[in-house]
Amino acid sequence: MTSPAKDGVALSVLDVVKSYGPIRALDGVSISVKRGEFVALLGPNGAGKSTLFQLLTGLFVPDSGLIEVDGYDIRKTAVPALGSLGVVFQSPTLDPELSLRANLRFHTDMHGIPASIAKVRIEEELKVFGLSERAKDPVRTLSGGNRRRVELARALLHDPSILLMDEATVGLDPRSRHEMVDMVFDLRDQRGIAVLWATHLVEEVERADRVIVLHRGKVLKEGTPAQIIDGTGTQNLSDAFLKLTRETGGHQAAA
Ligand code: ADP
Repeated sequence: MTSPAKDGVALSVLDVVKSYGPIRALDGVSISVKRGEFVALLGPNGAGKSTLFQLLTGLFVPDSGLIEVDGYDIRKTAVPALGSLGVVFQSPTLDPELSLRANLRFHTDMHGIPASIAKVRIEEELKVFGLSERAKDPVRTLSGGNRRRVELARALLHDPSILLMDEATVGLDPRSRHEMVDMVFDLRDQRGIAVLWATHLVEEVERADRVIVLHRGKVLKEGTPAQIIDGTGTQNLSDAFLKLTRETGGHQAAA
């Protein structure tokens, strides 16, 4: 099926609102990610990152606003919209007792990928991520870094247009964290996949094409790292982020 995406936009979020009782977790958020773009969603705890990812992955629906993945409205055309997303969640979602291969196979079955194609895709991705030798091993025997690699491989099996990384380095040691960041930049360079990388760690996103600073449910600022720093009176992204998020007031109450 030809995607209805306009102007190479892989993800479009328009004026999205989501409240939990009196807390407005997302208060009119609009963002977009183009094909091949690495966009960082940078926000401290409680900014609304997880809430946005839950809406993007169809777990919850927004109170109002529009979300399109690859041009497909996630509410009206959920199947192609969700089929265009590759997701690595914050919490581990692999079955520890199943082998790497079986975990990946479970995913291709869920996406309705025919067995003969799935077999080839799985072996290809295992090779890309240096995991072919471990294919038969139960996931529980892998290091934390390798488990994340399997999750990344799995997210790519159905050839999505955008990769959503939801605080995907949580729990990893600094070295594995760097490897994960490098791997995703390489994937973007080699495959032209769009990336939305949510984190509260500035050091992970200094190389991003664009940074979107989310705080207390609102987009505070967006632009290249240099544009984020500009006008804050600071010299680096880390200080700029601290300054921007310190200067902002509390959550808006839900209407
Ligand atoms: P982040 O992922 O950036 O840390 P969240 O999306 O988890 O932010 O949270 C945004 C706001 O919504 C916070 O104030 C949080 O306490 C609140 N929140 C998140 N999930 C729930 C929930 N299930 N019920 C009530 N409040 C929630």
